[in-house]
Amino acid sequence: MESYSVEEAAHYYRIDCWGVPYYFIHDDGEVRVRPHGIAGSSASLIDILSELRKEDIHFPCIIRFPQILEHRLHELHSSFERSASEFDFNGRVQGVFPVKVNQRRTVISHLSEYGKGYSYGLEVGSKAELALALSMELAPESIVICNGYKDRAYVDMALAATSIGINVFLIAEKSNEIPNLIKFAKDRGIMPNIGIRLKLTAKPGGHWEHSGGEFGKFGLSTSDVLLAFKLLEEADMIHCAKMLHFHVGSQIPHIKRFKAAIREASRIYAKLRKRYESIEYLDIGGGMGIDYIGNRQAVESSVNYTLREYTNDVLYTIGDICEEEDIPEPNVVFENGRAVAAHHSVIVTRVLPFTQIHTEFDLAPKKGEIRVLHDLFEDLERMKPENFMEVLHDAQDYRALLNNAFDLGKLSLDERARGERIFLAISKKAIEIAKSMGEMDEELQTIEKNLADKFVCNFSLFQSLPDMWAFDQLFPICPLNRLNERPTIPATLSDITCDSDGMVDKFIAGDDICDSLFLHVPDERAYYIGAFLTGAYQDVLGDFHNLFGACDEVNVYIHERGEIEVGEVEKGDSLLDVLTIFESSETELTRGFIKKAEEAHSAGKIDKTALEGVKQYFNWYLGQYTYLDL
Ligand SMILES: *Cc1c(COP(=O)(O)O)cnc(C)c1O
Repeated sequence: MESYSVEEAAHYYRIDCWGVPYYFIHDDGEVRVRPHGIAGSSASLIDILSELRKEDIHFPCIIRFPQILEHRLHELHSSFERSASEFDFNGRVQGVFPVKVNQRRTVISHLSEYGKGYSYGLEVGSKAELALALSMELAPESIVICNGYKDRAYVDMALAATSIGINVFLIAEKSNEIPNLIKFAKDRGIMPNIGIRLKLTAKPGGHWEHSGGEFGKFGLSTSDVLLAFKLLEEADMIHCAKMLHFHVGSQIPHIKRFKAAIREASRIYAKLRKRYESIEYLDIGGGMGIDYIGNRQAVESSVNYTLREYTNDVLYTIGDICEEEDIPEPNVVFENGRAVAAHHSVIVTRVLPFTQIHTEFDLAPKKGEIRVLHDLFEDLERMKPENFMEVLHDAQDYRALLNNAFDLGKLSLDERARGERIFLAISKKAIEIAKSMGEMDEELQTIEKNLADKFVCNFSLFQSLPDMWAFDQLFPICPLNRLNERPTIPATLSDITCDSDGMVDKFIAGDDICDSLFLHVPDERAYYIGAFLTGAYQDVLGDFHNLFGACDEVNVYIHERGEIEVGEVEKGDSLLDVLTIFESSETELTRGFIKKAEEAHSAGKIDKTALEGVKQYFNWYLGQYTYLDL
């Protein structure tokens, strides 16, 4: 076998960039996880998979590493701490996790537990998220931020939580929410902490460009802010107005966008703080991006800043403006979700086993076969570096002629088959030549993409990587084993839904973003593919295309010497589970089928035993996993 180093693999799949510090390739060609960071212990994902098999976990599955969540929280908080001491920032700095980023109970409860030492809290945007947040055990100083549009029940619940000592902040998204907040609070006789969401003119950039800025969906303009404060003053509730809030958007690619937003918000804070002493918090929202591509550039799916640069810029800018305006620094609240959750989970799937069927095929046309076929074959033979593009274009013409001839009934199936094969050989040869000469242009790239093998993977893009489908967001994809062997087949990945959109054909590979990814020649060994950095948003946006349901999920912990502990398991949906979501009850399903079986029995098509067998089989069938059992 041709030698291939794991360093080459790490560079090609770019795991040496996006994986740092949590994922890397070991000398044995397997991807390992290192949840405590660079200096911590590690374990092979392939070894983890064999442990999971013992627990009856199926593919695709989501493996969560809660210890990565713990490490991310530590990194984020210590970076803020270091920046605060570097710039003598005197306000408190505390975080909240935006529940919408991952509402899985296991994720929220791990974050609440690990976050106690940092007084970490939660941010919610709906009644259901508030219920989840209020059921968590938080440190006494932790805060709960209530965003989103609110009805009476939402506000009343927040007030009830305030009355039992939970630090809830109700954020007004619009000025017309203020009269209701005042009314509900007075009715209950409970004074809430109120925050005002600012509408900034700074634009976020990136995929979610439309979600912020002057015309964004949320927030109060300057005149609305002034009106809100006036209303609170008139209601004798100005002491409740404690926070200014903004959120620029998600996955902000360029640090300058943050700086602009923070500058603008700090200025508003400073000017308001001079008028209203009750305001003591500035909530800067989330938006810190993840370098999914691993190229450190201000492009979509990447970022051009580090965590430290972000925390430095935040605290320096706020501090600087407060000093200039001569007001005390605010307590800063941050709501970064993606930056906390993305790394902790991996979606693992198996490539459907397939063997390449190699048949000898004689490309040379036979005597008496149509003339164009001979011309096409000649093209294959005369193609060389000096003329390959010209010959390729000639061949495309001949191929069109062949198709016409077939439509007119002038081509046999054998001739058509030979034509397909010769044309394929010509295309491959052209790509080969172009690559060796470094002359791959857009046309050739499209051809290469069409030539790529389609590896079918046991998963649904719609359920497991919704942002890839909806926003063309890139996630790092990498085989989990055989990484000490050279991958030789350019491939795209198809999922098992019956939707042609259900495929992955954009990859982070080599020094670029490619339409295909080199994978390994299939053999008898199981071949696993992982989609990484999928812990933010993907879990909750997934849909049930083709009724493929939630995957099996499991928490895995890696101990000091690399021992693998399989923790809590959440089984994915069965056929019955997904059908129930879409309004079929078990009784309806079984009754409908059994009626037909009984009719067949009455008609003498099957005997009594067969009838019982068919009934039992149907029940067993409803309990199956929605994905393929390979
Ligand atoms: C979605 C959201 C966040 C989280 O954004 P990230 O990009 O995941 O950090 C924070 N605050 C608010 C108000 C949000 O809506």
